[in-house]
Amino acid sequence: MLPGPVFAAPYHLDPAGWTPGSDGYGRGDNPTRRLLEDAIGELEGGGCLAFASGQAAITALLMTVLHPGDTVMIPSDGYYNVRSFAASTLAGLGITTVEAPTAGPYPPFEGVRLVLLETPANPGLDLVDIAEVARAAHAAGALVAVDNTTATPLSQRPLELGADVVVASGTKALAGHSDMLLGYAATNDAGLLDGMRQWRTLAGAVPSPFDCWLARRSMGTLALRLRQQSANAAAVAKLLREHPLAGAVRWAGDSELAARQMRIIPGLVSFELPSAEHVAAFLRASALVAAATSFGGLHSSADRRHQWGDSVAPGFVRLSCGIEDTDDLLADLTKSLDAAALP
Ligand SMILES: *Cc1c(COP(=O)(O)O)cnc(C)c1O
Repeated sequence: MLPGPVFAAPYHLDPAGWTPGSDGYGRGDNPTRRLLEDAIGELEGGGCLAFASGQAAITALLMTVLHPGDTVMIPSDGYYNVRSFAASTLAGLGITTVEAPTAGPYPPFEGVRLVLLETPANPGLDLVDIAEVARAAHAAGALVAVDNTTATPLSQRPLELGADVVVASGTKALAGHSDMLLGYAATNDAGLLDGMRQWRTLAGAVPSPFDCWLARRSMGTLALRLRQQSANAAAVAKLLREHPLAGAVRWAGDSELAARQMRIIPGLVSFELPSAEHVAAFLRASALVAAATSFGGLHSSADRRHQWGDSVAPGFVRLSCGIEDTDDLLADLTKSLDAAALP
């Protein structure tokens, strides 16, 4: 239950020398990291490897599974860095990338080696039925991976739904305090787990022992944080729909699939203001919402995704609801949207 001590030193050798299976050097293994991996693995329902960031975990999966001549299917509306990695590194290795929108329709899975899903997708919050895609993809011989960042494993368990492997950023709601980068992969495929572990050791993409300890400590409040974020998001979605300045409000709780596939609706809401200037005015006027390009933290934050190259409108905002008192947050949002509506 406790996060354990921080074994910060990079080596712990017996005076008689190293024996296989002991913690010889921190890149290969570390006891503090193992405690975190045990905790996340228990929630995901599989063996877990912690990484230095979510992107490092995704990279480990892609580089372990894909070989020259293979085809990978990735979301067209998911985390942008995965598309950049595919267009640069994977293309350079002779790996073909096919993009599919999270909500579908999906192209045929024949000839695809790996299907990477992201649900709810960041930033548009579209969903996909993991079990349904896993059945069709498996029938065509493809592996199925799910990026579980937005939902977290307390809300959604892709391995139980038929996915072969989960990858995620722990930077967001899982660690939840906006004070570290962290990633992980989880699977019940022993060969894949070994392959990704070997990639991690060779590439050096490991999180620090202190970050592992912090993340493990933070997981004790994950359920409380998610519940408050989720309740805030439901109230905020309603407020935004009633406010004349906000349009195109999206919230995963609207979807019938969300109730079947997730136990807790994530604390994210997206919406559009008329322009980038309106978003800037909204953020200046808010006392509670920080401008930040992450999400899932204790404090509410908002990101205008167009500035990062996402194919969304200039006034598109991804709002991450924190754990503030709901009435305080609603009052602050009303005040700052009203202020942004003034010429
Ligand atoms: C942030 C994010 C990542 C990348 O995680 P980092 O920890 O920033 O490397 C991957 N997938 C999704 C859905 C994300 O939101």
